[in-house]
Amino acid sequence: MFKIAAWYDNYQAPAVLMIDDLSDAYIDLYPESYKNDWGYLGDQEGSAYHFLQQELLDFYPDIKITFFIPYLRHGILNENCNYPIQKYALGERLEYQQFLQKLIASGHEIAHHGSNHGRYVNPNLCTVGQNWIHEWALFDTVEKGVNVTQKGIELFKQTTGVTIVGGKYCGYVAIQNSAEIIDQCNFLYWCDNGHYQSNDTHYFGKNRIFSFPTSFAGNKFIRLSYITGDASRDRQKRYMKYLQPLYNLLAYYQLYQLYKHRKIISIQEHISPSTTWGTVQSSNIVTDIKSLNKIFGFLCPRNIWYATCAEIATYRYIKENSILEWDSNKLTIYFTNTRKLSETVLSITHQNPFSLQQECVIYHSEQKNGLQTVNIPITDGYNEFEYTIKDN
Ligand SMILES: [Zn+2]
Repeated sequence: MFKIAAWYDNYQAPAVLMIDDLSDAYIDLYPESYKNDWGYLGDQEGSAYHFLQQELLDFYPDIKITFFIPYLRHGILNENCNYPIQKYALGERLEYQQFLQKLIASGHEIAHHGSNHGRYVNPNLCTVGQNWIHEWALFDTVEKGVNVTQKGIELFKQTTGVTIVGGKYCGYVAIQNSAEIIDQCNFLYWCDNGHYQSNDTHYFGKNRIFSFPTSFAGNKFIRLSYITGDASRDRQKRYMKYLQPLYNLLAYYQLYQLYKHRKIISIQEHISPSTTWGTVQSSNIVTDIKSLNKIFGFLCPRNIWYATCAEIATYRYIKENSILEWDSNKLTIYFTNTRKLSETVLSITHQNPFSLQQECVIYHSEQKNGLQTVNIPITDGYNEFEYTIKDN
């Protein structure tokens, strides 16, 4: 029986590292520069990215990252809190633009994450919580939200040449009109459904935006043992660290369940531990580096498709919108490419070896994850491909 594979090349499951809040910013807080860096230092030695490269990507070079990036000066870094801050908007410093272009050239993705991420109710207070409002909760009209969001898409295009296709609500906070804003901007995917949901079959809006799940916390394997910098929380946690090994068993089980059921494994992180409110940013690549190594160490021997959110959403979209028909020697695929997705494929599986021939081009199947698989290119416009099936 011919089938459209669940994932590209019939991989068992896709995995992406999602890093929020990369920004052209730096807070002078810790003696080590990589802990202070939010993106200002680019990929130079001492930067947050260089730390990630050395401590994770060098060991697991297949990892793909989607960076969720606010395009204005990051609002949550408060200038009134006695920590020297440098922060810039996208387009203000060429070095930062070049850094983003390098990330894209390395196969990573940059995605939308608001303009300035939100604002303080009282900027003279250094606390967040009740004193901070995330960006999408501030859009009183759909029109305003669409304008601010479109401006970001245009600025990314101008400065880096990239077409943004997805994004995430700041702090996952949305109000009634938020979905309408995202729908009007016609993103391919959007992380809209709060933390740690493995449901990857949800779409919203007239344009059927793929609701991208956030399925695994990057800090799972250290959550009970790290020091937050908040004295009362750290006092409460002082015995919890002994439960971490037990909690790890649960974390491995959850990770395996995502893998086994062919769900999207999307690992949630932030770029930096440094904040202007004094405590460590919950879930960040520096504090969580051991946890991230455990996660990717678990995934490494398995049949994982390392891909960006955009690549995963693209495959999912084509799969859901394609029709496959076959009889004894003909296989036809129908797909209307209204989103103009290019340089992409659809993977077809069968139990036995087979070939598909279209005029002079022949695709021979290969054994992938227990099934014979071929990858058929998808082109712009209406795709109606008829292939002659040949037994190998
Ligand atoms: Zn954020």
